[in-house]
Amino acid sequence: MNHYALIPAAGTGERLGGNIPKQYLPLRGKPMLFYSVQRLCASPRIKRVYVVLAHGDERFSQYDWRAFAGKLAPLYCGGATRAASVLNGLLAAKAEIAADDWVLVHDAARPCLNAELLEKLLNELCDDGVGGLLALPVADTLKRADSAERVLRTEPREQLWRAQTPQMFRYATLVRALQAMQNAQVTDEAGAIEGLGLQPRLVASDARNLKITHAQDLPLAELILNGMERA
Ligand code: C5P
Repeated sequence: MNHYALIPAAGTGERLGGNIPKQYLPLRGKPMLFYSVQRLCASPRIKRVYVVLAHGDERFSQYDWRAFAGKLAPLYCGGATRAASVLNGLLAAKAEIAADDWVLVHDAARPCLNAELLEKLLNELCDDGVGGLLALPVADTLKRADSAERVLRTEPREQLWRAQTPQMFRYATLVRALQAMQNAQVTDEAGAIEGLGLQPRLVASDARNLKITHAQDLPLAELILNGMERA
């Protein structure tokens, strides 16, 4: 059974402001995308790492990716949504990936994935019938707000998890799930798999695998990456 990784990196990242798409924002002198590529390419268990780029992306080729030659494969087939980019990438890689092979989908916007968490995901899911994802049990007390941002009520947080990536599913199941959900709003692969009536497994992660969404997340990611280098 082979493992493949796919990084959707075709977003515009407007939420962070500026003209640079989020995956290319500088982080310790490298584009954010570099760190996800590096982490996934470093795993001997992953056969190839696909990066899904926007049609006409002119930034990717400006960087030096030679360190990952033979393993990294850019695909210029991004879609209008993250789910569409993932589906387009999976279909573009169809000739190489078998129906039962595992695919790990990982956001370019999560540059701080560490090797231990990646190994844990691969180990815990290798014999799983469905697949699953890294996720973090909710620690904060949750408040439901009204439109004026006043508390309506406190929501129970028991058994609530925050979904992260990588999310790991079998190729054919993931393609089928994403195709079935093309007109629905799914924000992660697990959501599409759930749409098939399947129950993805939650693999406990930690807060270091954060998603870069706001400008203030960037210095935090730098701190985490610096700490990983020292460890
Ligand atoms: O914007 P957001 O943080 O949700 O994006 C998550 C990931 O999905 C990013 O790596 C982004 O580049 C990617 N994406 C994509 N195609 C889109 C939108 C987002 O590949 N149309």
